[in-house]
Amino acid sequence: MKFTNLTRAEEIGANCYLLEADGGRVLIDSGMHPREVGALATPDFSVLGGRGFDAMVLTHAHQDHVGCLPLAMRLAPDAPVFMTEATAGLSEVMLHNSVNVMMRQREELSAPDLPLFSHREVERLADQWAVTGLGERFDVAGMTAEMFDAGHILGSTGVLFQAGGKRIFYTGDVNFEDQTLMRGAKFPEDGIDVLIMETTRGDSPVPEGVTRKTEETRFIGALQAALDAGSPVLIPVFALGKTQELLALLYEAKKRGDLRGGFGLFVGGLSAKITAVTDSLRGRAPRRHGDLKLAECLPMEVVGGRDIGQLPVKPRTVYAVSSGMMTENTLSNILAPKILEDSGAHCMFVGYSDPHSPAGRLRAAKEGEEVLLDPRRRPVRRKCKLDQFTLSAHSTRDGLLGYVKRAQPKKLLLVHGDPPAVAWFAREVPKVAPATQVIIPAPGVPVEL
Ligand SMILES: [Zn+2]
Ligand SMILES: [Zn+2]
Repeated sequence: MKFTNLTRAEEIGANCYLLEADGGRVLIDSGMHPREVGALATPDFSVLGGRGFDAMVLTHAHQDHVGCLPLAMRLAPDAPVFMTEATAGLSEVMLHNSVNVMMRQREELSAPDLPLFSHREVERLADQWAVTGLGERFDVAGMTAEMFDAGHILGSTGVLFQAGGKRIFYTGDVNFEDQTLMRGAKFPEDGIDVLIMETTRGDSPVPEGVTRKTEETRFIGALQAALDAGSPVLIPVFALGKTQELLALLYEAKKRGDLRGGFGLFVGGLSAKITAVTDSLRGRAPRRHGDLKLAECLPMEVVGGRDIGQLPVKPRTVYAVSSGMMTENTLSNILAPKILEDSGAHCMFVGYSDPHSPAGRLRAAKEGEEVLLDPRRRPVRRKCKLDQFTLSAHSTRDGLLGYVKRAQPKKLLLVHGDPPAVAWFAREVPKVAPATQVIIPAPGVPVEL
């Protein structure tokens, strides 16, 4: 059996992997790099050597896993693509949105190769999607496979492959702890020969005493104080996952009386669409607060990309808008100058940001420092207050290390992390699993499993 990394660098980029056994070829995920544009944002499909693949497995609907699915499918138009029902519903919204983003980029960046695929292509793809339930065994390119709840976002999975007497488990993006909506992952721990594991937070130690619960309490307390002071509050969030978690968190806090008084709430157009899909899947995908209709749980207004520039920033109002990384041309990036230059305003981060993204630069900037949010505009001086909370949808590094310790795989492949994050696991794993061989799969180089 062989594993090949199609990501272009050791990073959280365009996640895509090839698993080969007995002549069968399975492609796992086909993401788009969140910071690159055009061909550089795609997985390196040249690694496939001009051959297609027999089937695909999609772990979840985040852009860095699903974004280049249409391009992968051009290489194997008849291959089935296995995913959960929620991933199918959410992927459709994400891919159509991606076409819209690329059409805008075509104009703004004079990039004639965009969009990389069309709305029609996305519509046709769905014919190949094989919706699979958690715990259902299915045959994929001659291997047996099974999906397990990864607790990351709605529909997210880790996948167990069995072939030639070996058990190979790919975590996808995972969270072992309960979030407000998602329940912690339920992953197999017995007889894993090869573990392919995400390492997103390997370089993010959690301070002593900090838990999900203490962070939720600290966040709601800070939000209440900001609203009491009449501040507008910007919370940059991912449209898929973090927005819905935040809505449920605010709703729960209001119900308990921890968050008091009325406040304005704006969410973005894509977030509203994804929230509607999430509501339509109530009772069909595992989550907590299964009956809660997120679109109706709090009074909120929807703001689109065309209106965000003119939107007046109001006191006692929460702007929970995407993207979480504050990427150029997204709602949070466009709204940011108005918030940043207002000493009475507040900016709150609630998840992971790539350190190289505008959000990463802002998080590193001290009060009074200038931050470059968009290279086409002047830097913005941060006068607003800024707070950071660890409410990530990814497992802590200790959570992942604990899983390796329980599973004791023969081989561990470290993926989906920046070099310092991967390096931390390479250093720590031998202490908890001394017999495990740790491998960092270099892009394009097959690893014998
Ligand atoms: Zn993800
Ligand atoms: Zn990811």
